[in-house]
Amino acid sequence: MSEILVVGSLAYDSIKTPSGTADRALGGSANYFSLAASLFAKVRVVGVVGEDYDQKDYDLLQTRGVDLAGLSKVPGKTFHWEGSYEGDMNEAKTLKTELNVFEHFNPQLPEHFKDSSFVFLANIAPELQLQVLEQVKSPKFVGMDSMNLWLTIKKDKVIEVLKKVDLVLINEGEAKMLTGANNAISAAPMITEMGPSAVVIKRGEYGFAMYTKADGYFILPAMPIATVVDPTGAGDTFAGGFFGYLAAQKEVPTTTHMKQACIMGSMMASHTIQDFSVKSLAKVTLGDLDKRLNEYKKVITI
Ligand code: AMP
Repeated sequence: MSEILVVGSLAYDSIKTPSGTADRALGGSANYFSLAASLFAKVRVVGVVGEDYDQKDYDLLQTRGVDLAGLSKVPGKTFHWEGSYEGDMNEAKTLKTELNVFEHFNPQLPEHFKDSSFVFLANIAPELQLQVLEQVKSPKFVGMDSMNLWLTIKKDKVIEVLKKVDLVLINEGEAKMLTGANNAISAAPMITEMGPSAVVIKRGEYGFAMYTKADGYFILPAMPIATVVDPTGAGDTFAGGFFGYLAAQKEVPTTTHMKQACIMGSMMASHTIQDFSVKSLAKVTLGDLDKRLNEYKKVITI
């Protein structure tokens, strides 16, 4: 089995959705990603937290075998994000972003992280994504995510990262922002022209559209979930399920592996959205995923 290195945010989120609110609940792209990926593979986290980071939040990742040697605790406060969802549950409205300890973060990889085969540059400032990637010796497969904030204030840097990855996972709004296209179908090949050989555009309840330079489109709906309690982290969970699945295979990822990985990411994300923060995701078992996959098969076959 191959190890996955992830760099991303570890956060306390304050979230408002039509189902209610959560105040300073555990979040961050690296947390969602690691919880999902660790069901299939060994995960190594690179990130930073502040003095307020709770021991039980370390323990949660540690009980899943996640290697936290690249996670530093420094004076100051943990990254804090405040968001709300109204009407469109697929698009978060950012109310506040407090970078806090991420502002002066200078990621240095522990020696044993440098040989990681899989690397995921989760949503975080693009220069930090680059700094981490430069320290990994010869990764087999590199993926990245981003978000509207970085596409607004650091688009050139995001484009620089894009040139160095095999795959980008991005949501539909961001794909349009990045390319100027007005739909996911035309945005996808434009993104692969920027560097990566594959792109997965996440479309909330409409599922995902993958496009690879080699084999073209692969498009499926999401698992139908009538009540979305909190969509935060669905994208990072998808990425974690996707990468976990790929890393658990013996061979170098093919398009077929990536198609299966998309379905695994989807099944995993369908759990995350059923409760606030990581509450649902932290409880998911391989058995739950299998059960959901069987229900999903009924949805997509005649
Ligand atoms: P997602 O819903 O999968 O796109 O990601 C939600 C997570 O992204 C939340 O838990 C936030 O803490 C985290 N997040 C929001 N804004 C940022 C940012 N600017 N940099 C890093 N992580 C962020």
